[in-house]
Amino acid sequence: MNCFFVEDYIKGTKSRSAGYAKLKRNYITVYAHRHVWTVCFGDIPNGMEVMHTCDNKLCVNPEHLVLGTRKDNTIDAVKKGRMANQKLSDEQVKEIRNSKEMGVVLAKKYKVSPQLITNLRNRHCRKHF
Ligand SMILES: [Zn+2]
Repeated sequence: MNCFFVEDYIKGTKSRSAGYAKLKRNYITVYAHRHVWTVCFGDIPNGMEVMHTCDNKLCVNPEHLVLGTRKDNTIDAVKKGRMANQKLSDEQVKEIRNSKEMGVVLAKKYKVSPQLITNLRNRHCRKHF
């Protein structure tokens, strides 16, 4: 099934946060996809995130929504290469590759995931130079 969008609903508003659609329910602002999950499947357990299998943050198709932990979401994001990759300049990638620092230290320094540092060093990402 195709993605459902909430684009129209939020047009002209500032109801977006980090790329997610938001809407107001009982005067409380909620993420549209979380709201849809609650309506279709019930409460979201503590500490769980509603994630998109279609990778489309504005999608509210209940069939594209799955529960996972924040960690799953991050791993998922890294796998899909959605996170951080392009935040680093070519210069920074070179610095990372030349650095003797541990991955976690560099991850903090450049505000990216340690996995990305590993991938950069192993040249899984940004192979072109
Ligand atoms: Zn979708």
